[in-house]
Amino acid sequence: MRTGLYPGTFDPITLGHIDIIRRASTLVDKLVIGIAINRDKGPLFSLDERVAMVEAECAAIAAESGIKIVAHPFDNLLITCAQEVGASVIVRGLRAVADFEYEYQMVGMNRAMNDEIETVFLMADAHYQAIASKLVKEICRLDGDISTFVSPRVARALKEKYR
Ligand code: ADP
Repeated sequence: MRTGLYPGTFDPITLGHIDIIRRASTLVDKLVIGIAINRDKGPLFSLDERVAMVEAECAAIAAESGIKIVAHPFDNLLITCAQEVGASVIVRGLRAVADFEYEYQMVGMNRAMNDEIETVFLMADAHYQAIASKLVKEICRLDGDISTFVSPRVARALKEKYR
């Protein structure tokens, strides 16, 4: 039984995240979506809202793939969280070169702390590669069309926040 941990802020979950989750679901038996509780940036959505959105979006993927997908808030070291949930693999999405440098450092540091947990990088489909939660929020705040970046459910939640 292989468990993967896909960590992020998911503020909110986008079609880019969903594409990565769908791809990861073919690689593991159980996927834990690690939802970072607080980050310096201060999320727009509360932890409960982010968890609820992730759970709602992942229900269909879990049903389709037959794997278990759970949302797991965490506020500690990523590597500690991975150990706690029994993950042997950390899944990260790679967008552009900009992501690479940060991820490269993270793998090096995490590996120094625990060499048994592998990090795998997945690329989203070309349609979703440019999507970033931060930009989706900005576009929504300025009344732009976000329908190609997030699900209708998440789009409604975003519009509600900025109303
Ligand atoms: P963001 O950087 O958009 O705020 P997160 O911090 O929640 O998103 O990111 C969690 C993980 O998902 C990271 O590994 C990030 O690189 C990845 N990710 C986010 N958006 C995409 C995307 N459009 N394509 C591929 N990976 C993505």
